[in-house]
Amino acid sequence: MAGRIPLSERLGADAFDTDPASHITLSDPALCGRCAEKPCIRVCPAEVYAWEADHLRIRYENCLETGACRIACEKLGNRALVWTFPAQGRGVQYRLG
Ligand code: SF4
Repeated sequence: MAGRIPLSERLGADAFDTDPASHITLSDPALCGRCAEKPCIRVCPAEVYAWEADHLRIRYENCLETGACRIACEKLGNRALVWTFPAQGRGVQYRLG
């Protein structure tokens, strides 16, 4: 049975024009500390989110712009993520459609 494709290989199928400023921020980082489920970590196919010691690490430059993280957070009623598309059309550029 084939294993999971590594993240670098999955993201390598796309091109990224990284905005120097993050398009994902937190309205209140303390909400994440109290968030038991942290679904943003599980739903993101690009592994943008990880819990590191005492804070949510956001690797926005890998974002595939699905918006799944924001929806998952809002479903909990937290609304901790402030998510917009990257400025000036930057961000992911899909090569395969
Ligand atoms: S789901 Fe929302 S509140 Fe929970 S860890 Fe993720 S961003 Fe923070």
